[in-house]
Amino acid sequence: MSYYRAPNGAPILFDNDDQPVRLMWHWEVCPSCEGSGTEDVWGTNGVTSDKWAEWTEGDDDFVTDYLAGHYSKPCAECEGRRVVGMPDEDDPRYDEWVAEMRAEGEWEAEARAEMRYMYGPEY
Ligand SMILES: [Zn+2]
Repeated sequence: MSYYRAPNGAPILFDNDDQPVRLMWHWEVCPSCEGSGTEDVWGTNGVTSDKWAEWTEGDDDFVTDYLAGHYSKPCAECEGRRVVGMPDEDDPRYDEWVAEMRAEGEWEAEARAEMRYMYGPEY
């Protein structure tokens, strides 16, 4: 079993016969970029204030370029869409989807993003 996201963003699960299973789904704000649609070229979302102070010290060009998006690329998770397709929790296959995501380690990353969203950046 495996899963992937269709080009239109819809989550699709493949059953044990590799047949695609369509799920009821909805859009959710992308947990990776938190809806910005971009991540910076270092693969992080945003820069800590310490780093920011260090990098921008006396370098106004860097600040201008950064704010202009020169150091941004489309978010890998949502491909710049700002939202990701997530299966509905009452879909009968929802548990299988979650199991697949967990298997691929994405669940953990998403859970962390959710913790950050709920409890702040310390998580
Ligand atoms: Zn994203």
